[in-house]
Amino acid sequence: MTDLRIAIVGFGKIARDQHVAAISATSGARLAAVASRNASLPDLPHFATIEELLSKGPPIDAVALCTPPQVRRAQAAAALQAGKHVMLEKPPGRSVSELDPLIAMAVHSGRTLFATWHSRYAPAVEPARGWLASRRISFVHISWKEDVRVWHPGQGWIWEPGGLGVFDPGINALSILTRILPQPVFVTAAELSFPANREPPIAANLALSDAAGLPITAEFDFRQTGPQSWDIIVETDGGRLMLSGGGARMAVDGKVTAEAPEAEYRGLYRRFVELAATGASDVDLMPLRLVADAFMLGKRNVVEPFLD
Ligand code: NAP
Repeated sequence: MTDLRIAIVGFGKIARDQHVAAISATSGARLAAVASRNASLPDLPHFATIEELLSKGPPIDAVALCTPPQVRRAQAAAALQAGKHVMLEKPPGRSVSELDPLIAMAVHSGRTLFATWHSRYAPAVEPARGWLASRRISFVHISWKEDVRVWHPGQGWIWEPGGLGVFDPGINALSILTRILPQPVFVTAAELSFPANREPPIAANLALSDAAGLPITAEFDFRQTGPQSWDIIVETDGGRLMLSGGGARMAVDGKVTAEAPEAEYRGLYRRFVELAATGASDVDLMPLRLVADAFMLGKRNVVEPFLD
């Protein structure tokens, strides 16, 4: 089998931190080019835009779109139109409905559209899913609190419409929640805190449930200084499951039962190579739909301006 030749589009923080190393560690994948207005890699073909990449670039099979969500739909459409497989960073788009035409294009062209949820590839997520499958769940609580100044320095797009604000990390928690619970969930109430000078929220409290009335609460906050929390607690008839570190560690009643080194992006690229081999797609919009519903149901608080 020949390698999947991948171009990274949007060479920013996540491309540098994760994608380059994950591609080089993935058998069957090879980094073939970069398209980014202000960044390049030595010894690799570079183009300022995806249009230039697609018209003048070396032969490639796929693109990994690591740009902000606001510009990804048009880039994905151009790539699918050109017959390339497409990997989308999370969140998959700036709205739920803009994904439908892309899904249809992928089916029509027989190319892969892969909407990634990297947190689902954290090492304790599948063990938690397996453990919960046979338990009666009575309560779920999510605490996802981080310091935006540490994790997203100078990223103006996150504060623009479609950038999601605190839901940019919060959607990772929702991607895990919707993977580990055996049944679908929905939002019942939300309270969103908007800085007076910004478009998306800086904090959010959500209530969710399932068809049986399971109580689920979530607290998202971008103003957390000191210890950061990326935790999900699930009370069950078999004990209290705690997923911590963004899905890195699972403990039951305080006893660690699953923990392994982080390798989320390697998991994503293994899956991308597997999907591209047949042109199948993997697009689960449920985490994005929950965020959209939180906006739809959200009570609005205006809080102090956020200064970067
Ligand atoms: P980032 O550091 O701002 O990088 C995005 C890159 O895209 C920029 O460096 C820029 O490169 C390019 N870009 C920005 N605006 C653009 C525009 N209007 N048109 C075309 N290209 C544009 O952001 P990031 O943190 O890497 O995040 C990108 C995506 O990955 C987001 O959806 C985020 O949720 C997701 N993600 C991020 C992290 C993380 O830890 N940061 C983790 C997981 C997932 P040029 O100026 O060179 O074009």
